[in-house]
Amino acid sequence: MKPKTCNCQNPPILSSNFTKKFIGTDTTNGRFGEVSIESCKQCNAKWLHYFVEYESFSQSARWYRGLISEEAVPNIIPTNAIAYLKSLEWHLFGGSYFNSTGERGSGNISVDLYKQYILGSLNENEILISEFENIQKIGILNVDTLNIDWQPTQILNNNGFSGFSQKIGEQRFTFFRHKNKLNILAETQLIEIDAETESHLKRVGTELVFSISKNGTVLFEQRHKQIESIVPIKDDPTPFVEAEDFDLRILIHNVLTENGRRDRMFNTD
Ligand SMILES: [Zn+2]
Repeated sequence: MKPKTCNCQNPPILSSNFTKKFIGTDTTNGRFGEVSIESCKQCNAKWLHYFVEYESFSQSARWYRGLISEEAVPNIIPTNAIAYLKSLEWHLFGGSYFNSTGERGSGNISVDLYKQYILGSLNENEILISEFENIQKIGILNVDTLNIDWQPTQILNNNGFSGFSQKIGEQRFTFFRHKNKLNILAETQLIEIDAETESHLKRVGTELVFSISKNGTVLFEQRHKQIESIVPIKDDPTPFVEAEDFDLRILIHNVLTENGRRDRMFNTD
């Protein structure tokens, strides 16, 4: 027989079942997380409660609550609340961000928006990119280290990307603009696109052979089958869906060869 647990452990959580003591605001990373201790009126269990919401973003509200011991209560301060929650074997979480009135989780706690929103802007050497096949998945590309820091949570509002990234075969391609110049990052090889840069794309059977050259010298060449929509394009009822929407190499090639597109790509001005 399952041991009977108090209602305070079973979402949905009713605030009227608790007495709430506000501890303070956690301003780590510029967030305003409200930290409180709630006592269950039925079983007197102590819950560490964390709530954060980003006003300019709809569906950004989220809360976490974790059961803590009576002895731990005096140790809780706003800035260690997240660490406490993370250290617990399990917690409850919910809110509009998760589109949930509450469920059980463990470990991962997602309370930050993205770095660029927190800091107002990215560092000089950082740009915001998205995964080509899932534009809600965002990453921060450091143009000095060429490392992509994929963000743990999906983006809420997708605007202002400076690049797209897609893994094609064994290679990850990232096509991005930095300091007003387009670049291609092919795995670890960085190619800055200038007037002399040429793109070549040809079909060999089901494969595409893609290469970039400068002044007649081939800088890289890659061969892999075309990444396609699950729905064949000719049967796709969605207007304007094109091959370049699925295979980043085709997009790069079109941008580099079609009149005027080099200037417009990832240009938010
Ligand atoms: Zn209870």
